[in-house]
Amino acid sequence: MKTESWLQCIIPSCGKKYPITERRTACDCGELLDVRYNGTFPKSLQKTFSERLSHGQNIFNESGVWRYRELLNFAGVDTENPSDCSKKLVSLDGAEGRTKPFHLTRVADYVGLKTANFWLQFEGDNPTGSFKDNGMASAFTHARMVGAKKVVCASTGNTSSSAAAFAANELDMQAVILVGEGKIAKGKLAQSLAYGAKVLQVRGDFDVAMAMVQALSKESSIYVVNSLNCFRLEGQKTMMFRILDYLRWHVPDWIVFPGGNLGNTSAFGKAFMELYEYGWIKKKPRMAVVVAEGAPTLSDLYNEHELRWNNGNIDNTIIDDYYSEVDRKGIKAKTRASAIEILKPVNLKKAIRTLEFTDGVVTTVSDEAIMDSMAMVSKNGFGCEPASAATVAGTKKLVEQGIIGADDSVVGIATGHILKDVTAIVDYHFNPKNRFANTPITVEPDVKEILKLADS
Ligand SMILES: *Cc1c(COP(=O)(O)O)cnc(C)c1O
Ligand SMILES: [Zn+2]
Repeated sequence: MKTESWLQCIIPSCGKKYPITERRTACDCGELLDVRYNGTFPKSLQKTFSERLSHGQNIFNESGVWRYRELLNFAGVDTENPSDCSKKLVSLDGAEGRTKPFHLTRVADYVGLKTANFWLQFEGDNPTGSFKDNGMASAFTHARMVGAKKVVCASTGNTSSSAAAFAANELDMQAVILVGEGKIAKGKLAQSLAYGAKVLQVRGDFDVAMAMVQALSKESSIYVVNSLNCFRLEGQKTMMFRILDYLRWHVPDWIVFPGGNLGNTSAFGKAFMELYEYGWIKKKPRMAVVVAEGAPTLSDLYNEHELRWNNGNIDNTIIDDYYSEVDRKGIKAKTRASAIEILKPVNLKKAIRTLEFTDGVVTTVSDEAIMDSMAMVSKNGFGCEPASAATVAGTKKLVEQGIIGADDSVVGIATGHILKDVTAIVDYHFNPKNRFANTPITVEPDVKEILKLADS
């Protein structure tokens, strides 16, 4: 099956196209780009996808990203030929994207939904512990296509961990990582160092590091793997494919997930736009994007300033005014959920497009609600990092508000692993004032005393 692909400006009134082999993160007009396809996408592929699950010797069938390769075939692979795939597609030996939705009874109860209608998909089960591996597989595939030797990203920690691991696993590839000094959880910093990336701690926060990368992106020696690289988003679409595949292509009422740089918001919307266009789905799931109260840009712009996609005729003055006020007041993002501590999300316009297409909603949650929700996920025997728990906190809030109906079906994305930010967890449990604190008890080495405590 032959698929044509190209890059295209997201704004229809521009619509400028570029060859797929170009190394660019923006249109000449300054707007974001999409990967676009022309081909045939018959529904019979659904059967192919499930058959691939039981062909474990081919890593491109094992990979939860490349299992769906027909739906992101910008590398132009002959999809059934493993040796063609291995020349072109980048994979951590098939390890990325091997996730699926799980039922969590206690969490369902906590958010006010029926267990049968509520799932969480743990993207923290990816090889580097976050969903970023989905997108890094596809971004590195494009990097290989264009002969890049040096990948660069700004990161709150998970993008850098993932980029560092993929670079380590590729021949002749160096990762250079810009992190806000002191703004990255220890587990994530540890990974980036261990995988051998060059780590640059920029004096400033994520937004400052991101601005540096945007400036650097014009350098020809550099390949940017932040989510403003639209090839990242192609891999991230597969999180939605796995949900639908698992639910036998029944579309849930809601998909709930945290919003940071809004790559997922963009990728998930694009996944559903394409499936809708191909006639695979009749119903669109509604997207609920959850942001931290301390990083509320998307909520402020969408809910209060009513920023809308409007067929690509976005009112830029709303955005410009908002950011100039942010700059004038010196406002910085602030939340314990460091992965979503972002005030100037690069994928804002694509996110607004997703919200329109899916009749989406945006809500904010407090750090307290995030941390309680994170504890609750673990009280159910699972786990995630703080940003991921925004999914649970946001679902709970939307159910309480009656926006998500008590009988609606909801799939939440838990974006990162429990051990990414252990400091946050230990701090939470050592403070007995926290709602679900499980504070350790210090005791003398005395059998009677220990028995008394164990029995109490
Ligand atoms: C990157 C990240 C996010 C934010 O995702 P975006 O696609 O940038 O909105 C949320 N949670 C975790 C754990 C992340 O690593
Ligand atoms: Zn353009």
